[in-house]
Amino acid sequence: MRQSKLFAKTIKEVPKDEASLNAQLLIRAGFIDKLAAGVYTFLPLGLRVHNKIINIIREEMDAIDGQEILMPALIPKESWQATNRWDNFDALFKLGGADKKEYGLGATHEEVITPLAKKFIFSYKELPTAIYQIQTKFRNEPRAKAGLIRGREFSMKDLYSFHTDEADLEKYYKVAQEAYFKIFSRLGLADLTYLTYSSGGAFSKYSHEFQTLTKTGEDLIYICSKCRLAVNKEIIKEQSACPECGKKDLKEEKAVEVGNIFKLGTRFSKPFDMQYMDEKGEKKDVIMGCYGMGPSRIMGTIVEVYNDKNGVIWPEEIAPFAVHLISLNKNDEANKIYEEMEKAGIEVLYDDREEVSAGEKFANADLIGCPTRVVISEKTLAKKEAEIKRRGGKEFKMVKVDQLVKSLLAR
Ligand code: ATP
Ligand code: MG
Repeated sequence: MRQSKLFAKTIKEVPKDEASLNAQLLIRAGFIDKLAAGVYTFLPLGLRVHNKIINIIREEMDAIDGQEILMPALIPKESWQATNRWDNFDALFKLGGADKKEYGLGATHEEVITPLAKKFIFSYKELPTAIYQIQTKFRNEPRAKAGLIRGREFSMKDLYSFHTDEADLEKYYKVAQEAYFKIFSRLGLADLTYLTYSSGGAFSKYSHEFQTLTKTGEDLIYICSKCRLAVNKEIIKEQSACPECGKKDLKEEKAVEVGNIFKLGTRFSKPFDMQYMDEKGEKKDVIMGCYGMGPSRIMGTIVEVYNDKNGVIWPEEIAPFAVHLISLNKNDEANKIYEEMEKAGIEVLYDDREEVSAGEKFANADLIGCPTRVVISEKTLAKKEAEIKRRGGKEFKMVKVDQLVKSLLAR
């Protein structure tokens, strides 16, 4: 991508109405634009990152036999009433249709997936089944001041699993938990993310959150350093020791909930009368689990975690571009190098802008945060070389221009 053609530009001033670091950096770097509190447009660079996060999640959901669907965001009042959530889900956006019907904008989708699954699942032979979607969710959050971390409109991956009994749910719950850790590891968040015990509702003692440590996190968690897990604030009062090893001196940390998994049991199958026929021909309630994860919140969290005073430092797997190629008024040579990189399949943002100073180009590259910066200038070309630098690193490396693509591919 040529930077001279890029739709959204970097912005010098810190937006005044943004308190959160993730939104400030992402707006300045031209990744997102704010329409209203908690409501953002994803610009070309931002959408690339968001898509990469989503693709990683999708691959790992497919790997645990999740089947992807897409449910509507417009959900009739009657569906919410069936589970008693029309009046009890505080953050539900409610609106009226032309047919005088009322709707709730999808804040979560148990009310859609359960009656949907009931149409296709009749027998134990069709279980277990796991269905997921990646979709925009709407919640009328009272405080939407954390940028992408708490949107009123945000993206969610929600997976729902259906089982014959609790043991089968327990088995899949563990599989999903592992898939979650694979995702966080691929996203560069493994070291900072803790499996966190949280209250479980009527069906099970605990549910589990995946909490990523950040100084700006809205949640408080209590970490057991020995077991590498945590309990959240909700349950620390009754569970003041590690639920695994009993260790008492848990360490308080601020964190962001990037995902959670929950045993629903019959909470939703009962109101929708979702049953299956077992081997003996007897009808039984379907047992359910749900597994949420927030791609847009993850994007905000990664920015909160990986940055310096100059801008974002993207982990390799989700960077908008792997390489930021900067030409300092040597576009003839740089054009060729750019085309070569593209041909080799390297994802490259090419700063081909004329009349922009070297200092501004470097500042922009730091702000945008691609992992590798390559500079082509008169000075480097005099030795037939290009200068390579890692974002966040201090060292410069000179590479012969004819070895450049090879060397970048070897990274
Ligand atoms: P929180 O406790 O932070 O309000 P939640 O427990 O209500 O979140 P869920 O309903 O379980 O969250 O949603 C699943 C996932 O969706 C969360 O783990 C989070 O990653 C994401 N998510 C939830 N609410 C928001 C939001 N307002 N903005 C962005 N992502 C969100
Ligand atoms: Mg929560």
